Order: sequence, then structure tokens, then C-alpha cells
Amino acid sequence: MKNNLRKIAKEKRFNLKTIEHNKKIQELFLNLSEYKIAKNILTYYSFNNEVDTLFCFKDITKNWYLPKINKDKLLVCPYNKDNLTKNKFNLIEPNNEPITDTSIIDMVVIPCIASDIYGYRLGYGKGYYDRFLPTLNKSTMKVILCYSDLLYDTVFPEKFDIPANIIVTDKEIYRINC
Ligand code: ADP
Ligand code: MG
Repeated sequence: MKNNLRKIAKEKRFNLKTIEHNKKIQELFLNLSEYKIAKNILTYYSFNNEVDTLFCFKDITKNWYLPKINKDKLLVCPYNKDNLTKNKFNLIEPNNEPITDTSIIDMVVIPCIASDIYGYRLGYGKGYYDRFLPTLNKSTMKVILCYSDLLYDTVFPEKFDIPANIIVTDKEIYRINC
């Protein structure tokens, strides 16, 4: 079920016209009260038709962090535009040293292909974030940016899936337990 939906959703996203959607998601995200008070934010570096996150780095009032894949682990490195490289998945990732104390992260923007309104997400199927998220503080805000066309009634979550607290789509904001 889950893998089947992943395939369908990927294809749907590939064919989506995203420019206007991204503008709206960006506007809603920047207006979140949780965003306004956040200081240290981990976000993914968007590629292809993923919801854009590159606008984030323009906000120099925040400390931005990027994920770096190391074996089956996700490490957290400070964002530095002059210190980026491509990893084995052809994704842009930081080339600097990870931080050791991830408890400073007060918001994480999690990549997804699709999600449901309960905060469950479909990632790329490697479970990196499901393993990483429980290592963060309980108070860390988990945010998903998702095109409304890719919001489903269910994404068939399993017991290891960790739901997000906030979903921002191009139509509305969903809050889960916050
Ligand atoms: P994604 O979250 O990337 O969409 P899944 O949720 O389907 O992917 O998880 C992919 C795989 O990662 C799972 O089949 C499982 O084997 C592994 N996984 C996920 N979370 C955990 C966890 N907390 N501990 C160990 N393995 C996990
Ligand atoms: Mg998962």
C-alpha cells in the first residue's frame, strides 16, 4: 500500500505546476507564530519538484541547519552557502562538521512526497527521519510542507512513523497536538 502510494504520489508531484503553490506555502510558513519564535531551524535543501525551501536561507535572523546522511544516520550541520556538496543520492548536502548537541534545534522542516492530515508523511522510503526525529527534544516543532494535491486521507502509517506537528499546504495549515 505504502510503496504503491509512494510511486503514484511521486509521479503526481513530477507533473505538478508548483510555482504558485510554492509562493503560497512560503507565505503561510513565514507567518507561522512557531516560525517567528524559532531560532535554530533544520531544513532540507529542496530539489526537483519538492516543495521549495531555498527561500529559507534569505532569512538571516535564523540559524539554519541542513541534514547530512552518514550511513543510516542523519547528522545536522550548520548551513553555509559556500560549503555545500552533492551526496551519493545526488542531493545537496553540507560539507562541514555536524553539531553534537542537536537539542538546540527548535524547528525541523521535514521533506515529504505526500502526507495525510494527521501529520504522517511519505518520505523516500529510507526512514531517515523516523529514526532521527525521536532523538530531538519533544518541544521541537516538526513541520511538513506539502502540496495540497498530495494530501491524502491516509498514507498508511506504520508504528515507527513519527507524525509532524504542523502541515503547511498551498491552501491551509493543519496543526496536530500543538
Ligand atoms: P519514509 O519515512 O522514508 O517514507 P518508511 O516510513 O517507509 O520511509 O520507513 C522505511 C524503512 O525504514 C522501514 O521499512 C523501516 O525498516 C525503517 N525504519 C523506519 N523507522 C525506523 C525506526 N524508528 N527504527 C528502525 N528502522 C526504522
Ligand atoms: Mg516513515
